[in-house]
Parts: sequence; structure tokens; C-alpha cells
Amino acid sequence: MKFGGTSVATVERIERVARHVIAARKDGYKVVVNLSAMAGETDRLVGLTEMAGRGDVSRTADYDAVVSTGEQVTAGLLAIILRRQGIPARSFAGWQVPLVTDDTHGSAEIIDIDATAFETSFERGEVAVVAGFQGVTADGRVTTLGRGGSDTTAVAFAAAINAARCDIYTDVDGVYTTDPRIVPDARRLDRISFEEMLEMASQGAKVLQTRSVGLAMNHGVQVRVLSSLCEPGEKAACTIIVDEDDIMERRVVSAVVPSRAEAKISLLGVPNIPGRSAIIFAALADGKVNIDMIVQSQARTGEAANLSFTLKEGDVARALAVLAEYKDEIGFSDIVADQNVSKVSIIGVGMNDHSGVAAKMFKTLGDRSINIQNISTSEIKISVLIPSEYTELAVRALHDAFSLGEVR
Ligand code: ASP
Ligand code: MG
Repeated sequence: MKFGGTSVATVERIERVARHVIAARKDGYKVVVNLSAMAGETDRLVGLTEMAGRGDVSRTADYDAVVSTGEQVTAGLLAIILRRQGIPARSFAGWQVPLVTDDTHGSAEIIDIDATAFETSFERGEVAVVAGFQGVTADGRVTTLGRGGSDTTAVAFAAAINAARCDIYTDVDGVYTTDPRIVPDARRLDRISFEEMLEMASQGAKVLQTRSVGLAMNHGVQVRVLSSLCEPGEKAACTIIVDEDDIMERRVVSAVVPSRAEAKISLLGVPNIPGRSAIIFAALADGKVNIDMIVQSQARTGEAANLSFTLKEGDVARALAVLAEYKDEIGFSDIVADQNVSKVSIIGVGMNDHSGVAAKMFKTLGDRSINIQNISTSEIKISVLIPSEYTELAVRALHDAFSLGEVR
């Protein structure tokens, strides 16, 4: 059972978490609980490291020593509350399990989990309450797994103990066809495939950390997303993430996902000769800038080309700095950054064997005079880049055009 930041935001809410845990025990389950920090706490801790570093945002072992503390607080508090109610419980920091990671501080990868600690807890009849989001390197330094990482630690623990299920409790009762704050008739999906969930998470849906979905898919962990804001037993609504084959009705489009934190950088007048793109993207990779959509304009041999790509808003400064450094080697004449763009994606496994989905998407946007700047596709996704001010209009129009509000 994993509980997110809003679910553990106060001691009162952690009392409700305890009730969910007790209910699961009554149902006969042995439970490992994985917790986030109280809502807002990780942001506060990150802010403290930046103050101490005078704006230095590098992710070091000491950064991790600070930001990992939020989860230790909630894990300890839940264990206290459970024991107070006569339920044997023990809290664990990541290193006490241990959950071993590599040494990429701030976004470490899991290498191994020793599940013996949990077996010992189960033998003693205890609930094991583990701080999420954190691990330890082989040489004993604390690490964290990147923002939203407690989804990933939860799925990893589920895989390690061969759990019947990994229940992710959050502040919504499942995965929706789109953001209900934008479209009031957005609908909760009863089932969604791993593939769709993976695309949704990576296109900006914030329900689950992308890595956690990939991990669940690879290890066959059965994941449910449900709300902790109701009392146990009160309402059983949730979204179950399943294999594509287990979805009876293949919808053409299952969800519309907006992402506002996007930016676009255009390089103008890039010499149109072999090897230039390689230099540009090697430089960006060096600067650890993650690139999403890439568009290169047609140019005749010998003429200069324009190349634009999208990235996260937070990476723009770093990208501009590395590109400036390589300006002579790349040979572009001008560079333009635009933060005023959003990405809107439609996702659905049924897209695979349906034609006309892109045409319908583009027509829907065109009819509203929304100009598409970039397009990218996968087998089950189409994303467009549009001016930010049209985000909500585009999401509403697409949700409507693909009839996602209708119960089928
Ligand atoms: N507390 C961490 C964060 O805010 C990890 C998590 O909640 O998943 O990113
Ligand atoms: Mg989260």
C-alpha cells in the first residue's frame, strides 16, 4: 500500500491511512506500507538545500541526505499511530531494508532490494512501514529516486515480496480521461493498459511516476490507483492497470493529457550537412537535457536548415548555455527559446488499428483556430505542441470530439 503526499499531509490524515492498513489486515493481507513525505515537504527541503548552496541546485549525497528526511517522518508517525492502536508495526528508512541503488544522487536507479527484513516483520506479525523515494548506495550513502519516486519504490517493494497487489492511494480515485479541473465531465477509467498508463505518465499525467509504470509492467505487478481521502470500505472506485489483452473493449482514444511545463528551442540557419544534428544533440545530452519532439525544416543541399526541439521548461537555461558553448561547432546563426507552449496528447491502444485518428485530432484543433507547431506520434499516442493559452480549449475540444465523457 502506497500513500502519497496529500494522503499523509497531517497526523489526522495519517490516522486515516492507519484505518486503511488495519482494514487490509482484517481482509487477511500482510502489508508493506510505502509512504511519501507530507504534501509540500519535499519542496520545502529542496528549497533549504538551494538556500544553503546559494542557488546551487546540484544533486549530491548531501542533497539526498536532506530531501530524504520527509519520508522518514511520515513512516515513523504511521508506525507510532498503528502501535498506539495495538497493531504491531515497525518503520524503516530505505537504507534499513536495504533498497540498494546506484549513486546517481537525486535520480538514483534501483539495483536490488533485500526482502528479508519484510519477512522478519511478517513473522512477527508486524506491518512494515517504509519511507518511500529513498535508497542507499553500495557504499552506504543515502540516495533519492527523483520527484514522485515513492510510486517507484512502492512498485519495487511489491515486486520484491511478490505481492498480490500494489495499491497506490492518492488524492483522486483513479486515472481519468483527462484533468477533471479542465473538463468537469472527465470520467474515471475502470481499467487502463500498462502501455496507455506509461504514455500518460510520460506525457505529463501526474498520477504515477513514469518509472513506476515501466517497473510494474516488467515485473507483472498488479497496480490499482485509488483514493485515500475516503474511509476504508466507503467507496471502492479505482482504476486497475492491466495487460492490454485484459481490456475487453479497445477504445480508440482513452485519454487526453495536457502538459504545460514545455518549452521550444529553435536553431536557425544550421548548415545542412551530415553530422550537425549529432553535434547538437550530443551537446544537449552532455548537459543532461532531455529532448522530446524534434522538427527539422526541409532545406535544399547547401542551404541552411532550421531545427527545433521541445524540452521541459526547467531545462531551458541549461540547454541555452550548452548550445552557446557549441555555437561555432554547430554553426547556427540564431537561437530562439519559447516557453509559451504546451503539449497536448491523445492516447489509446485502439489507435494502432484505426485510421483517421490524427485527421480528427487536427481538424478538431483547426476548427478552433488552434495552430499546431510540432507533432509527434507513437503507435498509441499523438502529441501536438500548441500556444499555451489554448491548452484548456484544446483539451476540452478533444475530450468532446472523441466522446470521452460518455460512459460505454
Ligand atoms: N516526496 C517525494 C516528492 O515529492 C517523493 C514522492 O512523493 O513520491 O517528489
Ligand atoms: Mg506522486
